[in-house]
Amino acid sequence: MIVIENGTVLTVDDAGHVYFGGHVVLDGDRIAAAGEGSYPGPVQAGDEVIDAAGMVVLPGLIDLHFHTAVGKGYCDHLPLWESLEQFWYPSIRALDAETAYWAAAASYLESIKCGVTTVNDMYRRLPDLGRAASDIGIRAVLSNDVALDEHNLDTLQDNKDAYDTVHGSGEGRIEVRVGIEWLPLASPGLLRDARALADDLGTGIHVHLNESLTEVENSKERFGQRPTEVAYDAGLLGPDCVAAHCVWLSDTEIALMRETGTHIAHCPSSNAKLGNGIARIPEMLAAGINVGLGHDAAESTNNCDLFEVMKFASLIHRAARVDASLFQAPDVLRMATRNGAAALGHQTGQLAAGAKADVILVDTRNVMFTPLADGNADQLHSHLVFAANGSAVDTTIVDGRILMRGRQLLTMDEPEILRQANAGFARVLDRI
Ligand SMILES: [Zn+2]
Repeated sequence: MIVIENGTVLTVDDAGHVYFGGHVVLDGDRIAAAGEGSYPGPVQAGDEVIDAAGMVVLPGLIDLHFHTAVGKGYCDHLPLWESLEQFWYPSIRALDAETAYWAAAASYLESIKCGVTTVNDMYRRLPDLGRAASDIGIRAVLSNDVALDEHNLDTLQDNKDAYDTVHGSGEGRIEVRVGIEWLPLASPGLLRDARALADDLGTGIHVHLNESLTEVENSKERFGQRPTEVAYDAGLLGPDCVAAHCVWLSDTEIALMRETGTHIAHCPSSNAKLGNGIARIPEMLAAGINVGLGHDAAESTNNCDLFEVMKFASLIHRAARVDASLFQAPDVLRMATRNGAAALGHQTGQLAAGAKADVILVDTRNVMFTPLADGNADQLHSHLVFAANGSAVDTTIVDGRILMRGRQLLTMDEPEILRQANAGFARVLDRI
């Protein structure tokens, strides 16, 4: 068992319990207890006791829309379509096994260092990503970049093969879903086949939808319908489907998302950087749609820090709607934890007995959390969302396994990951 004592336990459970000087006990891959005061015990010889004095104990964050990144700081001035054509697609066509493995390890490393315990990663070469996720210890839902054959990306057969070999690996922490790159590289027939494959495998779907105005125009021209209408008619949407971005949803499309129980991954910083616009999240929440948060990709938002995404998610809507009451800190934290877990059907995202033991410790003994009044949960939520960034994360635990402690990665050699990721980027540049 791991016994975490003396911390401020922010459970994000249904009642939103906060325990000052509380405890969290992890037994194997599950949370055995979370509550007030010291753990009444018994603590056995061999149990690990973590003194969390000065720390906030939180459920690990869930990055609901994620791509392993082989590069960043490239084509930073281009809009979405052009950046895809000029860098992203060429780079992911140039991947070899080693490059994919180390790019994934570097991406997951940054997430772990920022307190992310689950990534919903759409990329290529899933067996190599699965090995990286397994070695570093993160929880990963992987899907392929499936597109029509002429685009030379992945096929549904690739995705099925990945499911057969990777799903359930890493002691069950690694899952495979069916991925669809986006509608401009797809067709209604491909979406129907993707739904049939997902149903056949009993797994979920991950798709980019309504990301840019150019995508909406492309869909209207080719299919005479908006992207979500095409996806709805093809049967792609549903409670097992995560649709990323959804920036340009009409009222009808919001209703279709609601009707099908589709989950939305909101990626405000990526949408802003690529000049794609601001999603109508207030309307989606009002309609009862489940919305989680994603960073998207280091190519499009330059880091994997979900703390930054939380802050951005709040500020962008306050600015756009001229309304400071929107997206208050506890609600934003819930989007990055509970909502992401619900979208993936995971028992994570909260510190409650029986939930998966995905836990982070955030150090408050620094200027980001100063001043902080004793026992003030509102101020603590505010600091987490508006003042802190991922560098305040001290410890990251997934499935009861400590991946990072005192900001030191325990599962892999961090300098080696950085060296190999740089080498992989150089190989990709050579090939494109
Ligand atoms: Zn994306």
